[in-house]
Amino acid sequence: MALAPAAYSELTDDQKDIIAMIRQFADEQILPNAEHFDHEDEFPQDIVDQMKELGLFGVTIPEEYGGMGLDLTTYVMIVEELSRGWISISGIVNTHFIGSYLLMKFGTEEQRRKWLPQMATGELRAAFSLSEPEMGSDVQALKATGRKRDDGAYEINGQKMWVTNGLRSGLVFVLVKTDPDADPRYKGMTCFVAEKEPGVSHNTGEWAGFDVPPPLKKMGYKGVESTELVFDGYRCPAENILGGEEDGLNKGFVQMMDALEVGRANVAARGVGIAQRALELALRYSQERKAFGKPIAQHQAIQFKLADMATQIEAARLLTRKAARLKDAGESSELEAGMAKLFASETGRFCVEESFRIHGGYGYSKEYEIERLYRDAPLLLIGEGTSEIQKMVIGKKLLQRNKI
Ligand SMILES: Cc1cc2nc3c(=O)[nH]c(=O)nc-3n(C[C@H](O)[C@H](O)[C@H](O)COP(=O)(O)OP(=O)(O)OC[C@H]3O[C@@H](n4cnc5c(N)ncnc54)[C@H](O)[C@@H]3O)c2cc1C
Repeated sequence: MALAPAAYSELTDDQKDIIAMIRQFADEQILPNAEHFDHEDEFPQDIVDQMKELGLFGVTIPEEYGGMGLDLTTYVMIVEELSRGWISISGIVNTHFIGSYLLMKFGTEEQRRKWLPQMATGELRAAFSLSEPEMGSDVQALKATGRKRDDGAYEINGQKMWVTNGLRSGLVFVLVKTDPDADPRYKGMTCFVAEKEPGVSHNTGEWAGFDVPPPLKKMGYKGVESTELVFDGYRCPAENILGGEEDGLNKGFVQMMDALEVGRANVAARGVGIAQRALELALRYSQERKAFGKPIAQHQAIQFKLADMATQIEAARLLTRKAARLKDAGESSELEAGMAKLFASETGRFCVEESFRIHGGYGYSKEYEIERLYRDAPLLLIGEGTSEIQKMVIGKKLLQRNKI
């Protein structure tokens, strides 16, 4: 007897409902306003307020701490939809999500109770800080320090670079060197949860010694601030060491690398989202624009571009969801997250460029949305590890898994 074929569905019913809701939000609230916020380089406060109401700052935070308690797979689907609207919106959620992941996985119960409920509502937002002026890919070369003081607290000194949400966040998960003699170097690094006043560039009182210089000027990824952070004698209590002093001191590198694994699935989802939008714009424009007596979509060379874009997007989406599903299943996804991040961010760049070409001269005009995407897409090749670094991760993991 032949078995009745099961209907194919990538999504559960709940996921379908959530995605439909976020897509509508992107169509109605993000896409019509992104041009304004991008051109003015203005923080999209109205959109962020609505995201708070929708619970989007607590998607993966467990319900007992006030969040939605959803898995990483659903989260990456949400990130794809937000990024289809504008990747700066997903950037506002991204480092916040990494911070909440770090607390859920490595934080003490006291730390979770103190910060997660406020993070779930978006009232308190988080930033994630590894990079420094002289270091990005080579994290073990970081120079910022945390030195124990006589009163038991730690004094943090040094400069951090490229901190997304650096100004408006109230918590910064920051990696510093606590044992300069450690060998290997990664065993001498600690993640501190540095508290500060959101939106304030010069902190005083209990948070004195923590300054946020004016936002860095960027070619794209506007609206969300990327800043330096300057720590100069900043006092951080020992209880703000992620996981507590006893368990967390000098464990920061491993904690941050674990968080980068989910961060990579997250950036991959952003690549899929921006690529999807580029394809939609190309599909529309190519059917409207005529050349040589017919819509350009009727020329085979243009159809080939559309075909390449759609195929790569589908592959990138599947890789991204696979990496997330593995993590949700409690398995290591380092290899898959690296592949997803590499392929999806390159797909983002590829599709945006192909769509730009399809737009001809108008693609170069600020009147057309593809111009914004063209400035935004390259960021995804860099953040959470460049394409070269992903290949190093993939190569290393392949050899580990296939050792002879
Ligand atoms: C808009 C923006 C937002 C960001 N947000 C954050 C944030 O919130 N938090 C944070 O900590 N960081 C953030 N970053 C920093 C980002 O993570 C780094 O820029 C990235 O890791 C690359 O580091 P780098 O810029 O120092 O480049 P480098 O490490 O100096 O690399 C330069 C080039 O050399 C290549 N390279 C380096 N090492 C090797 C190698 N071994 N083999 C082959 N090639 C190599 C790289 O791939 C790259 O092409 C952000 C960056 C940008 C642009």
